[in-house]
Amino acid sequence: MKKRVGIIGGGAAGLFAACQLKRLNEGSDIEVTLIDRNPVPGKKLILTGHGRCNITNRKDASALKKCYHEAEKFIFPALKEYGPEDTMSFVENDLGLKLKEEENNRIFPVCDSAVRVRDAIVEYISDSTEILRETKVIEINKSDDFEVITDKGTYHFDQVILSCGGNSFTHTGSSGDSYKFAKRLGHSVNQVKAALAPIKADEASAKLCKSLSGVSVNARVSVFDGDKKTASFEGDTLFADFGLTGPAPMEISREIPVDVKNVYLELDLVPELNDEAFDSELQSQINAHADTKITTILSRFVPASVAGEIAAQADASDMYAQGFPKDKRKKLCRQMKHLKISVDRAPDLEKAYVTRGGVVLNEVDRKTMQSKIVPGLFILGEALDIDGISGGFNLQACMSEAYLAAKSILS
Ligand SMILES: Cc1cc2nc3c(=O)[nH]c(=O)nc-3n(C[C@H](O)[C@H](O)[C@H](O)COP(=O)(O)OP(=O)(O)OC[C@H]3O[C@@H](n4cnc5c(N)ncnc54)[C@H](O)[C@@H]3O)c2cc1C
Repeated sequence: MKKRVGIIGGGAAGLFAACQLKRLNEGSDIEVTLIDRNPVPGKKLILTGHGRCNITNRKDASALKKCYHEAEKFIFPALKEYGPEDTMSFVENDLGLKLKEEENNRIFPVCDSAVRVRDAIVEYISDSTEILRETKVIEINKSDDFEVITDKGTYHFDQVILSCGGNSFTHTGSSGDSYKFAKRLGHSVNQVKAALAPIKADEASAKLCKSLSGVSVNARVSVFDGDKKTASFEGDTLFADFGLTGPAPMEISREIPVDVKNVYLELDLVPELNDEAFDSELQSQINAHADTKITTILSRFVPASVAGEIAAQADASDMYAQGFPKDKRKKLCRQMKHLKISVDRAPDLEKAYVTRGGVVLNEVDRKTMQSKIVPGLFILGEALDIDGISGGFNLQACMSEAYLAAKSILS
């Protein structure tokens, strides 16, 4: 009797699972069916890396695991068994796509095309996997086998891979069904919220952000909930009409609570100097350039437009270094090192690159990805409560998990 394997959701995790089931199969009699609601699977995959697909990140497993926040321990065996080098070898040798390394160890296909990556995967699995397109799964039940009810009919499988993704960019198909199915099958699901998302400032702070819209600075961005600093990250920070975006704000967005009361961000615009060192540097610049405008002095540290705004906030726009009062200098220092941006509300899940939350990890065997609650059910990708930082880590997690699941299904 053939073993019937159903992959529910053909995003990154589901497609990678189909690839691994083909690659690792050494003659097992299995029949693999992948079901996706869209006409072509991988609709989110083709958006990745701004359409270029940052497929993985060349780091060793111990450095890599630190990129998954609270899921570090859970994800380690998967990364160790099937890490970035394995992903790269698969993409180059089996999919036939040459790869290149960019800044911060990020790996992209040389063709710079996520569509080509998706198409190569679909082509690769075409002789081993039946793809049911435009088929929406409505319900999954487990009795003797798995009964998968769709809008096109009912299917039965011996084993099921649940890979319907998270709950963001819902137009790509990932609208939270993973969580609905997992709950119905008896799993607990941690609250879902945005990760890697832009941050909306409140009305007053948005005015400042809007006036600097399009300007990028290197800043250490810290989140404060009340008076407590809860997270901080240094990197490029982009001002936008609505608030802040870019690598650093997006990275810390997962730490903004769902229920925003008194939450604000603090931007350190000169992270290389501590408060005291910056004050003393500013003092020496003021002493050395008496005939220079304060905005010009500030623009030695930050872009001119930011310098202009900071000076304006200290009522120092038209002032010169000569005779510049100490209290104003202190105010400038404070603004440059602790620029406060109040947060309007929790980041919008719809705009999040990744969903934080999902199936509770201690209900899943981290060595096989099999559910500890429902034998024969494997859970992968954003369905799980795992969110990686940006840089290729989320796709690598999908690939590593897919490998473990396929290995276990074929054993
Ligand atoms: C704009 C953007 C850029 C990104 N860039 C990168 C990057 O460069 N590198 C990186 O590592 N990560 C990146 N990510 C994150 C990465 O894309 C996701 O973490 C990854 O796609 C998650 O894979 P998944 O299979 O769990 O979910 P998804 O890729 O969302 O796939 C879920 C699939 O399930 C299907 N589905 C859902 N419900 C049903 C149903 N009821 N019936 C049938 N089918 C269903 C959907 O149609 C979809 O195809 C990016 C994300 C976004 C939004």
